[in-house]
Amino acid sequence: MSAQMSVENDTTERTAHFIAGKTYAGDGTRTAPVYDPAHGHITSHVALASPSDVDVAVQAANEAFAAWSQTPPLKRARVMFRFKELIERDMDRLARIIVHEHGKVLSDAVGEIVRGLEVVEYACGIPELLKGEYTEQIANGIDAWTMRQPLGVCVGITPFNFPAMVPMWMFPMAIACGNTFVLKPSERDPSFSLELARLLKESGLPDGIFNVVQGDKVAVDALLDHPLVRAVSFVGSTPIAEYIYSRASAQGKRVQALGGAKNHMIVMPDADLEKTADALMGAGYGAAGERCMAISVAVAVGDATADALVQKLAPRVRALRIGSGLGDDIDMGPVVTGQHKDRITGYIDDGEKSGATLIVDGRGYQVPGCEQGFFVGGTLFDHVTPDMRIYREEIFGPVLCVVRVRDFATALKLVDEHEYGNGTSIFTRDGQVAREFAHRVQAGMIGINVPIPVPMAFHSFGGWKKSLMGDHHAHGPESVRFYTRQKAVTQRWLNHDQSTGAEFAMPTH
Ligand code: NAD
Repeated sequence: MSAQMSVENDTTERTAHFIAGKTYAGDGTRTAPVYDPAHGHITSHVALASPSDVDVAVQAANEAFAAWSQTPPLKRARVMFRFKELIERDMDRLARIIVHEHGKVLSDAVGEIVRGLEVVEYACGIPELLKGEYTEQIANGIDAWTMRQPLGVCVGITPFNFPAMVPMWMFPMAIACGNTFVLKPSERDPSFSLELARLLKESGLPDGIFNVVQGDKVAVDALLDHPLVRAVSFVGSTPIAEYIYSRASAQGKRVQALGGAKNHMIVMPDADLEKTADALMGAGYGAAGERCMAISVAVAVGDATADALVQKLAPRVRALRIGSGLGDDIDMGPVVTGQHKDRITGYIDDGEKSGATLIVDGRGYQVPGCEQGFFVGGTLFDHVTPDMRIYREEIFGPVLCVVRVRDFATALKLVDEHEYGNGTSIFTRDGQVAREFAHRVQAGMIGINVPIPVPMAFHSFGGWKKSLMGDHHAHGPESVRFYTRQKAVTQRWLNHDQSTGAEFAMPTH
């Protein structure tokens, strides 16, 4: 089925935009289907914004900026406090919306909302975070200070895999800093963004400060080119991140573009292999591998480690409980679309052809009662080598590759030579090796006996190499810097009784 289709004769719901405090139908006629991934059928169609719809949203955000940027930070923080309470009130309903369109299991959907809420909690501290620096008497009778001021209209363009958490990495901090915001969520799971808009309104956020435009490349390009947009936060795949970064920064906009990943876990011979295997199961197969911090490569140091690890992993992978995300005791739901399912199984075909050993094959997986669902079973490859596509490219599915190396130095070199550098971890009991790893490895987020080292909201999140373009990571202290610009003031109050006369030399003290 094509990604776009007409809504004529269509009885499903139409997911619209949200602009200036109201649902906005828009003048765009194009739509895209949204699926229930567990059952494989279309549940709604999402409107795809035209450039003029985008202009309406940006103009609304720009008009709202004048008053919002002058609102005291404490009042902005109070909106965030109320927003946090409303999200908690509606948690179960909100999590079910994610499961319905994304497919992940309910507990995982709750987890992503909670991780997003942590950024809202951090944003509640904005009066403290915006404090500048002050120096009295930098010269006789002169004082100096710095302040941080908002930028204007900021934009967020987000991926399908975290419809709640990734937008919440962005707008709570942007808005708390005094900016206004236009969110362009993924067209594959667009509904959660409208819930965010409604709850922000209920929290007392004035109209026009948070807006949602649904859409695809047409909407994205209109946002990147709009002269009133000052900053762009993007999270998605690397080819699109590179495109967003170059197009928006060429027009003088501030950009942070977080891209794809291929996260390695090094397993040392001294690691506790029971615990390591359990950690790899959650990190490799949680959310069906559709996480930018999923571990997709286990680097086993030594053949004995690899043999023992694969022996522990294989029965666990076969025992994965797979089904609808709303089912009881389910470990892993479907992947997001039929197209993505085909892409993942294509990689499994390719891995087999290229000579990797397929230990557990997830192709053709059937869930009773969900025969049309987009399910891929847990898949495990051994003897994967760095030249294979299944090693080099991001699969973004429940496929774990075991690569065998002879020693720690070779494992480190492997991680460093990969083009992505989002997260990486090591499992070992040797503190010296762990320290060496953290110190030397070329990646942005490092775990030591922690499989998915996602920083908490009060630290910043971001990768290295092709996993991030731009100078600022997401949330935490870096987000205050990204969503504000600094001004430095030097002040002297003249004593009118004393004439200083003109000074032509560079002032020195
Ligand atoms: P994607 O790159 O296909 O889409 C991301 C966003 O870009 C969506 O809003 C989409 O509408 C838009 N987009 C898609 N094609 C476009 C084009 N040609 N021009 C302009 N805009 C376009 O990513 P996805 O499939 O939704 O999400 C999965 C990817 O996101 C994976 O690569 C994953 O690693 C990455 N991701 C990274 C992080 C991180 O923190 N680094 C976090 C989550 C997801």
